[in-house]
Amino acid sequence: MRITMIGSGYVGLVSGTCFADFGHEVVCVDKDPSKIEALKAGRMPIYEPGLEALVADNVRQGRLSFTTDLAPAVANADAVFIAVGTPSRRGDGFADLSYVFAAAREIAQALTGYTVIVTKSTVPVGTGDEVERIVREARPDAEFAVVSNPEFLREGAAIEDFKRPDRIVIGTDDDRAVEAMNKVYRPLYLNQAPILVTGRRTAELTKYAANAFLATKITFINEIADLCEQVGANVQEVARGIGLDNRIGSKFLHAGPGYGGSCFPKDTLALVKTAQDAGTPVRLVETVVSVNDQRKRAMARKVVTACGGSVRGKTVAILGLTFKPNTDDMRDAPSLSIITGLQDGGARIVAYDPEGMDQARLVLSDVSYAEDAYACAEGADALVIVTEWNAFRALDLDRLGAVMATPILVDLRNVYSREDVERHGLRYTGIGVVPGLG
Ligand code: NAD
Repeated sequence: MRITMIGSGYVGLVSGTCFADFGHEVVCVDKDPSKIEALKAGRMPIYEPGLEALVADNVRQGRLSFTTDLAPAVANADAVFIAVGTPSRRGDGFADLSYVFAAAREIAQALTGYTVIVTKSTVPVGTGDEVERIVREARPDAEFAVVSNPEFLREGAAIEDFKRPDRIVIGTDDDRAVEAMNKVYRPLYLNQAPILVTGRRTAELTKYAANAFLATKITFINEIADLCEQVGANVQEVARGIGLDNRIGSKFLHAGPGYGGSCFPKDTLALVKTAQDAGTPVRLVETVVSVNDQRKRAMARKVVTACGGSVRGKTVAILGLTFKPNTDDMRDAPSLSIITGLQDGGARIVAYDPEGMDQARLVLSDVSYAEDAYACAEGADALVIVTEWNAFRALDLDRLGAVMATPILVDLRNVYSREDVERHGLRYTGIGVVPGLG
């Protein structure tokens, strides 16, 4: 199959590269010339484990190429995937579909022969209908079908997720399009990935329902963590106690500073807006959105409390800036609200992140960056673990305590146990775990 990917960001680049690795002939298009130049030179515009080697391998085999020139790439393709961004629209929280519609208009102009246009971007229910209308209006002569094929990969494990998905959702009622999509995903039959063929609107909504459910699970355990702190229970043990129940499952039950990232915040909000417009508000998700928003800032207050009630004039060291480990993605990362909250309280911030500091520099101000965790802790009045990178899981606590001005560890990911930390002479604050109680 000849596949063209419009948008070469986290999803487009990973999906395009994996499709090439399946044996398809793939062209990744992006309108950002610096991204395409970097990719042509073998440099990755994003950090994703394993991606650089997989790109290099498929470029070498002649199956993967990069361009800013959309028209010829679309003209030659059997399937064109739209993988552009769908951020929250400024002001009202609806999904901003301007990039999707602009891509649809450009694709329409370049279509030749029967082409399947596949929306991989996360888009609200009914977007496929609008993409179809745009293309049909611009090119009444064109032979095409518009399919929804939402993506469920996780940054940090994107290649593995793409190659071994829990399921593939294909939304269309066009038989020819189903046949083409089966060819695209045939290599995954070997892995026995379930393929769900469904209506286009159902596929679009499935993605939002999945993200909203996961966000709800996280928010649920976060609220239980707060309750644990008040009543003297241990949230990690509660999470284990409920997670071992197969009906509940243990994933997404780690209490922390609130969900962030490029998907959950904008997708939960977009679902809320879609449901309100449809006259059937999803109150549960509305609550999740508001509880999670307040939580991030509340984490700054938690640090202030650990520091004895004020951080004015104090130095707070932050370990981990990205919204989760193994990515450089800073979009809606909890660290942003936490750092701003601490700065508002008068703290000086020093931070370290293994991969996220370049992106962080673009969105944070008045932050000093350190070379590693120990340099970050040097002279600090408190050390806060915000993202659970592996590099922070086995820190030398004696060394940390020795270089800090005040040995206070605020562990927003419950990476360490209180006993361990206190044995090394540091004061400990975790999430949903209370001193001396359990
Ligand atoms: P991204 O911002 O990393 O990448 C989007 C890319 O599209 C950018 O490089 C941009 O320059 C390019 N682009 C925009 N308009 C274009 C056009 N007309 N022609 C060519 N290129 C164009 O975004 P992302 O994180 O890859 O997300 C893409 C979509 O996938 C979103 O809808 C997102 O919700 C969804 N999604 C993301 C993830 C994730 O983990 N990041 C997971 C599942 C689904």
